[in-house]
Amino acid sequence: MSTLLPFTFTTPNLPTGPASKEQPLTNPIEMLLCHYPLGRYRQNPNFMLVHARPNPFDEYQGSLYAILTAGSDAPLAPSTDPLKKKFWMKTYSENKGMLEQLEAQGILRRTGEEEEQGYVKLIAVETIIQHGQWAEFCSGCETYEDLGGETRLLRCSVCKDTYYCKKECQTTHWPLHKAVCKQFRKEAAAAARRT
Ligand SMILES: [Zn+2]
Ligand SMILES: [Zn+2]
Repeated sequence: MSTLLPFTFTTPNLPTGPASKEQPLTNPIEMLLCHYPLGRYRQNPNFMLVHARPNPFDEYQGSLYAILTAGSDAPLAPSTDPLKKKFWMKTYSENKGMLEQLEAQGILRRTGEEEEQGYVKLIAVETIIQHGQWAEFCSGCETYEDLGGETRLLRCSVCKDTYYCKKECQTTHWPLHKAVCKQFRKEAAAAARRT
């Protein structure tokens, strides 16, 4: 199994230099791409940017840095490479400038597909990094993988698209997951037949 691939990110809102109690977050920020399963459309998986490790100067800092996926029903063919994923990315407002950095770091690439959504344009992107290199999200306790973890999350053996940090998380989440699990499995089988 491949290991998590951290990368650095800079934002004009932060100073550069060593972090401290007074300035807990500085450039460059160490990030991970993180996949999360809360979308309705499998063809448009959800990705966010999360901090690669807990902040030693700010114990209250959440893992989430930015949501990358745009909420869109526009059809987007899944990636032809089963180890990669394609999704519609929001590149405006708070996400302005992010895609350029993620391209430069070799994390995402544009597929060339675009979708007008009202006054804005959604950009289709595909991961350059592969399954295993991005973090997964535990659907049970809603925590993310980061560089501090000793083991990787467990994958639902039926749909192979939902992850859990421990058996109890899977058990407690099963009543909710049951319906989509079947649907995910069907869609994955259909996608496999197409390729
Ligand atoms: Zn969990
Ligand atoms: Zn499942």
